[in-house]
Amino acid sequence: MNEKYRVAIIGSGPSGFFSADHLLRLQPACEVDMYERFLDPFGLVRKGVAPDNPNIRNISKAFDMIASNSRFRYFGNVDIGVDITIDELKNYYDAVILACGMETSQRLGIPGEDLPGCYTASSIVGWYNCHPVYSALDVKLDGERAVIIGMGNVALDVARILTRPISELSKTDISNNAIKVLEESKIKEIYIVGRRGPAQARFKENELQAMEEVGDTDIIINPSELELNETSKEEIKKNPSLQRMVDFFYKFSNNTIKKKRQIYFIFLRSPIRILGKGRVEGIMFEKNKLEGGVNQQKTVGTGIIEKIDCDYVISSIGYKGNRFPGLPYDENKGIIPNKDGRVVKGNEVIPGVYVTGWIKRGPVGLIGHNKPDSLETVKNLLEDLPLLPKRIHDSRGDIIELLKSKNIIFITYDDWKKIDNSEIERGKFLGKIRNRFCSSEEMLKIISKEE
Ligand code: NAP
Repeated sequence: MNEKYRVAIIGSGPSGFFSADHLLRLQPACEVDMYERFLDPFGLVRKGVAPDNPNIRNISKAFDMIASNSRFRYFGNVDIGVDITIDELKNYYDAVILACGMETSQRLGIPGEDLPGCYTASSIVGWYNCHPVYSALDVKLDGERAVIIGMGNVALDVARILTRPISELSKTDISNNAIKVLEESKIKEIYIVGRRGPAQARFKENELQAMEEVGDTDIIINPSELELNETSKEEIKKNPSLQRMVDFFYKFSNNTIKKKRQIYFIFLRSPIRILGKGRVEGIMFEKNKLEGGVNQQKTVGTGIIEKIDCDYVISSIGYKGNRFPGLPYDENKGIIPNKDGRVVKGNEVIPGVYVTGWIKRGPVGLIGHNKPDSLETVKNLLEDLPLLPKRIHDSRGDIIELLKSKNIIFITYDDWKKIDNSEIERGKFLGKIRNRFCSSEEMLKIISKEE
């Protein structure tokens, strides 16, 4: 008994797949079952990455390779923590890795945030990416001006999707529902507003450069926005990538309106109140200055208040993890507390429970950063494995019996590939990369049709 090790991974995004890969490569006696609460896999690769960034989505081909290993199984549509508890799962597995990411936006915490016309970036991203929770979001783009708060890459993604011409978007795998709304969109101006200065924006260099390629859209920056204090000049001097980013901003200072739409970058403004009677009509900002040492500058309010009239406010100020049933949670960081991937409660390690990805380290980093992150977790897990409490169930089929006894309709990776192929096939008729299914019902119909 127990000559095989068995590990359950919760979540099928990049950190989940990278963990599976490390486990399968590093421990030949290890079998991996991956659980996903939705039917379709890949987490933020499918439901977070912007549809006009197909190269990033292509990493799913590497995940297909990992999934083709006979020691790997996929259970889609199983909500661990709800359908099956972590404690129950531990009867079937020697160890469990939580790779469930973060999908909730941080809130601004200012008055007016719940007015119609105010959205979180995560809801807009989910809306255009067929995320089951957000795909039916009521978005009407009948106003001309949107303000996006935050200067991270997600803000750029949202700004691009709201401004890109339909002729460019319609070839992507964007949701059909979103494309209909975007076709009718009246948006002309987007303001991307940062609380710190141009040298502190968190944009990735190539993501910022890509803004220039959005069709029929001007980038406009008032030169007064680009005045840098001495500390910021020091920061730039030491960082060529930062220098190139600031140079990019300078390139568009004094630019004038020539095209159908405009994106404005505005710096050193903190949102203090969203205005409107019944829906968003504007937003108030306090002008900031920066204080602090090199790379540690923080905002200090100047007391100068400004208003931008607008129809929409989209807050894109970072993500937050959700509490996972039965596990500790760090309210401040929005993560599951851990020591190098081993989940801890206070100072005590919880045996056999691990984390990887954003839920381990917080919402920072690109997809590739999850590879070394998951390697650290997997190495620690493999080191612990011989000493962990033994699972009760030995047969690989026992977990399927449990799922059936609970009437849980789960799908396999082969089932997912039928959905995947069907999306690609129906996309061909429309000249799209793929034509996505936005509902579980549609996906389940495809599987049952082919059986
Ligand atoms: P982010 O990079 O952490 O940026 C968040 C922005 O929000 C920062 O400008 C931050 O300003 C600002 N902010 C935070 N709290 C605020 C507040 N209360 N009021 C006003 N502004 C506030 O977050 P993200 O854009 O969600 O991206 C998350 C991660 O995903 C990042 O690592 C990003 O690079 C990655 N990502 C990558 C890609 C890509 O490679 N294509 C695409 C999307 C996302 P401060 O700097 O002052 O805190």
